[in-house]
Amino acid sequence: MKAMVLTAPGQQLAFVERPDPTPAPGEIGVRVEARGVCRTDLHIIDGELPGIRLPIVPGHEIVGIVDAVGPGVASPRLGQRVGIPWLGHTCGACPYCKAHRENLCDRPLFTGHSRDGGFATHAVADAAYAFPLVGFCDPVAAAPLLCAGLIGWRSLKLAGEGRTPIHDDAGNLIALLHHVDDVTAEVQKAMDCDTRSVSADSRRT
Ligand SMILES: [Zn+2]
Ligand SMILES: [Zn+2]
Repeated sequence: MKAMVLTAPGQQLAFVERPDPTPAPGEIGVRVEARGVCRTDLHIIDGELPGIRLPIVPGHEIVGIVDAVGPGVASPRLGQRVGIPWLGHTCGACPYCKAHRENLCDRPLFTGHSRDGGFATHAVADAAYAFPLVGFCDPVAAAPLLCAGLIGWRSLKLAGEGRTPIHDDAGNLIALLHHVDDVTAEVQKAMDCDTRSVSADSRRT
């Protein structure tokens, strides 16, 4: 496989060739068709996030075709198109995982941060965190949905019918952030939601 690898914070990615990865139990191997570039990738390359595993292949908006399946994996299946997002693995045992809030897991692994991501021709993913993309025929168009799209979709789902504002523990209205709301606007159109856009910055509308 070919990959772009970060070996030290602040350095340019290095082109490398290495053997194709083999999926372990519970994992799948993917031939990468498309990958998005997220602002978080730049934070990783600049060394601005804790816990980065080096060397690392960045990239967490991955679309690809399953070309290998590890032991114990029933789904996704060989030949399926899947999406691989930022959250790449959770422990399944901490209080958050047991409460079905695994996005807050105490011991997570993140794609392109603490496990190799999609700036490569091939990638390996936890099968539980690879989503079959049924009905998506354009890998490039689907890639941004794996990060910005997921954030917006989850916010819209939590908002329910949108009649109750969502506040955090401090009472602040939760708002979507900068570029994410562009993708969210497309998601809410597809979900036929009545959505209003607000900004804390009075210079924006
Ligand atoms: Zn992202
Ligand atoms: Zn956990």
